[in-house]
Amino acid sequence: MSAKVKVGRPRGAKTKILPVVVMSRGRCPKCGGTERTVVKGHSPREMAHAGADPGGQTYTHIVWRHCSCDACGQRYVEKIYENRPGK
Ligand SMILES: [Zn+2]
Repeated sequence: MSAKVKVGRPRGAKTKILPVVVMSRGRCPKCGGTERTVVKGHSPREMAHAGADPGGQTYTHIVWRHCSCDACGQRYVEKIYENRPGK
């Protein structure tokens, strides 16, 4: 006889299907690495400006962050289009 161990979700619970949002992190221009540290003191710098990003998605703010690549140390600026509807 084996002990019963409760694992997983409770009986009868429905599996929630959540939408998956595919993200592509900025990459280091030198080595292609995605792990980076934001350099403090410079950033973030942001500007409230509405428009459409290169992919055609609307945005309300542009944010720049100075970053340092964790893999090779390359410094670069990350430019992000953020959408903050209702703010
Ligand atoms: Zn790098």
